[in-house]
Amino acid sequence: MALKKSAPRNLTSRSSASRIVFRSIKKLYTLSGVHQKDGLRPTPEDLGLIEKAAIVVEDGKILWVGEERKLKSALKGLSDARVGKYNQKYSQKNSQKSNQKIKYQDVQLNAETVLPGFIDPHTHLIFAGDRRNEFEMRNAGATYQEIASKGGGIRSTVRQTRAATSRQLLDLGQERANRLLRQGVTTVEIKSGYGLTEVDELKILQTARKIKGPRVITTFLGPHAVPEGKTADSYLEEVIRVMLPKARKFADRADMFIESGYFSISQARRYFEAARALGFQITGHADQMTRTGASVELARMKATSVDHCVQISEPDIQELARLSSGTTCVCLPTSDFYLKMKYPPARALIDSGARVALATDFNPGTSPSLDISLVGILARLEMRLSLPEVIAALTFNASRALGLEKDIGALVPGFISDFICLDQPLESLFYDVGYHPVRGVFRGGCDVTPFASQL
Ligand SMILES: [Zn+2]
Repeated sequence: MALKKSAPRNLTSRSSASRIVFRSIKKLYTLSGVHQKDGLRPTPEDLGLIEKAAIVVEDGKILWVGEERKLKSALKGLSDARVGKYNQKYSQKNSQKSNQKIKYQDVQLNAETVLPGFIDPHTHLIFAGDRRNEFEMRNAGATYQEIASKGGGIRSTVRQTRAATSRQLLDLGQERANRLLRQGVTTVEIKSGYGLTEVDELKILQTARKIKGPRVITTFLGPHAVPEGKTADSYLEEVIRVMLPKARKFADRADMFIESGYFSISQARRYFEAARALGFQITGHADQMTRTGASVELARMKATSVDHCVQISEPDIQELARLSSGTTCVCLPTSDFYLKMKYPPARALIDSGARVALATDFNPGTSPSLDISLVGILARLEMRLSLPEVIAALTFNASRALGLEKDIGALVPGFISDFICLDQPLESLFYDVGYHPVRGVFRGGCDVTPFASQL
């Protein structure tokens, strides 16, 4: 696809009242219906298809979307009275320049398909080393405990991450972020959790915030594992008293690995109450290996997301559906695949009225894959999600899991214009493992595709 590279690199820094018109889109999927239904029970119609479409962007945000043949009259209307809430805000903010002549930039996308950029709402992107040898051990039948007793597992990644410099971690993280961007991921969540000391946890969060390309949302995961020589209680005390307040500067979300042998529900309650008092959003690794009841417990604490949800019961599903106005269930099928585990009951969650998002869970131990096509294909095959449900789960529903549902995940007026262009129909997505038909990546209306092409 020939993309005209005329979009400015940084739209938000422009002070003039210029706008960008993106034309020549054969099929535009706005996800307006998914947005309207708050991500619940997505249908094919909810993808909000507009044929022969155009998008008008101003200051990185969508001003108008619609059929290109209606563009002329829409632009005329936009020059005078501006529609919607965002535009009212615009009028106030820019009243002094309301008499300026508005300049338009034209970008011919020549795209077969345009849809919102993908959002990966659960990764452990920053770590050093790998756990390749454990793959072979596990495949030969070794248990997690046996691997850990030989110095493997999370603690081996912790050792290697502590030994790495910030520069080394940034290089590793940037290379991984580039791979996500190339697949159309415009927002990625990154957790700490391989430091387990104040200095090392903050080093990971600060490094994550330096990554360029996709938008980065950082999450503090100090209670990922209990460091050597400490008990869960003594470590948690240190996390709550020392690490959490300092991490607040570099992370908006607080996470915990709630699992037998790691942290308990009662420890989770203590931790999340302290986190909430500091203004963190709450999220948790819940009910992955064993059923602890953490998914429901966290949803009742108004967690924005509960992640994994593999071992949840039928009553848990009903309760998560009841609490869907606050909490999104994030399923991570790649880790279930690598662990040869059962998959979460996403079909039952969606049918019951819960909101489901998908993520890579990229980490060196249980999900060493950054491939979002694999995530979507496993969701289709093993969790019986429809293609529209997978697309909703990796766009609007993922934004909901991160508390960003007013800004990203759909292409509707007022939203940040993060979108991707395909040179194939929508059905080419999540069909062929490792195949990514993404040919253009735009973040806030800026073409970030050349960045991806350097890979
Ligand atoms: Zn995880």
